[in-house]
Amino acid sequence: MNVLFVAAEVDPFIKTGGLADVAGALPAALRARGHDVRVVMPRYRVLREKGVAMDGPIAASFLTIGEQSEEQRVWRTTDGPTPTYLLDIPAAFERSAIYGEQDDHRRFILFARGVMDLMQHLREVDGWQPTIVHCHDWHAALVVNYIKTTHAYTFGHVGTVFTIHNLAYQGACPPTTAALAGLSSGEMIEQRMGPRIAGAFNFMARGIFYSDIVSTVSPTYAEEVMTGEYGEGLDALLRGRRNRFAGILNGIDTTLFDPSTDPRIAAPYDATDPSGKAACKAALQHELGLTEDASTPLIGIVTRLVEQKGLDLLEQVMPWFLRETGAQLVLLGSGNAHWEGVFRWHAASYPQRVHAHIGFDAALAQRIYAGSDMFLMPSRFEPCGLGQMIALRYGSVPIVRATGGLSDTVQEGYEGNGFRFHPYEAQHFADAIARALVAYTTEGWALLRQRGMREDNSWAHAASLYEQLYAGARRS
Ligand code: ADP
Repeated sequence: MNVLFVAAEVDPFIKTGGLADVAGALPAALRARGHDVRVVMPRYRVLREKGVAMDGPIAASFLTIGEQSEEQRVWRTTDGPTPTYLLDIPAAFERSAIYGEQDDHRRFILFARGVMDLMQHLREVDGWQPTIVHCHDWHAALVVNYIKTTHAYTFGHVGTVFTIHNLAYQGACPPTTAALAGLSSGEMIEQRMGPRIAGAFNFMARGIFYSDIVSTVSPTYAEEVMTGEYGEGLDALLRGRRNRFAGILNGIDTTLFDPSTDPRIAAPYDATDPSGKAACKAALQHELGLTEDASTPLIGIVTRLVEQKGLDLLEQVMPWFLRETGAQLVLLGSGNAHWEGVFRWHAASYPQRVHAHIGFDAALAQRIYAGSDMFLMPSRFEPCGLGQMIALRYGSVPIVRATGGLSDTVQEGYEGNGFRFHPYEAQHFADAIARALVAYTTEGWALLRQRGMREDNSWAHAASLYEQLYAGARRS
């Protein structure tokens, strides 16, 4: 199959969260299964600054937006595992920010327009057409809308899959955006939207409405988002698509995330011989100025500091954690200034037990996965979660709230691989940490850790499930 993958962030070029991991790894896994997969993403300024090698421009055009038009040039790179087209639209991407700009809706209309022009170019000049266009999250959603409406004559036969990585980010903007995008106002979609979000032009709603198949990144999250509690106002729209809506767990890149070969960690190890992990822990304690003691449990957390990630629960359990346990805590994250301050303050107050590194640091993240005994993810909601899967592979036992993909990947009990709690309350979170700390002192700990390390969370399995989805999208 020919597959065009459309995403706003793709590892190794640019990464702010799990979407980039998926957009980096899934195309590679599908290519390994014999498909001609190509990726398209924006050419952010930072790609140039990082020195990503680019050929081109291979195409150039003007993109219509409202009454205006903007220049686009298309570049190609083979620096990543999958051939990737980079859309160079100066009006949208020649700036330092990735997201969070006032004009994000305009930027990603331009992106979708640019993808349509690229598809035309590939068809006319290279004779290449996708069998499937696979769009990810709201930034890419309008591509599906264009394919099924304005561009149906040329591309209506192309199968479309729209994957929701996080329903909380929908790209909601003023109703006038429809005219800017050259699309109809979408009453049919609006009727299905909850009252809280109705009235806006909603990129994600359009992706859900127009794609042949909708998917999200875990079976539990798929069920959850069809309810009012998790549906963010789009639950009715999703329920209406129940028969064409699937949840497929993400994998992890098991070559990149492999403690036996990872050059970023202090010593190699694996499930059969985990002895190197002790060296990783000692190195981490040393690096961060924590008390250097092999028997003190070390708990890690690597996260965006946003409400979704359950940081209010962590904030609430900190006094208990510091008073009642002797454990150490290492936090790596950035985001909300309140939590940056809270964890900096704890770190300053207890420098030998708590370390907070505010920032984004992929190498330190690996040293934390490798050097910690346990890993926290008390998320309010979690579409899939990659952190717990990376932690499992590095032998850091996950302590999670049982929601979304965390619920699908972490089980507690005799044959389990971690610790879980469900009610979103600090007491339940503290209890789960306490259970983990007790288990840490028992002989069973090594086995529990080993079960997690032996799990196969590679992309190969997920890729085979996506193949089935693609077959369904073609049939429709
Ligand atoms: P989300 O996509 O919601 O942020 P995931 O758990 O799916 O959450 O993916 C997060 C990914 O980003 C993981 O690979 C995690 O290690 C990484 N990550 C998150 N915050 C940081 C940070 N501050 N520094 C380095 N890596 C981070």
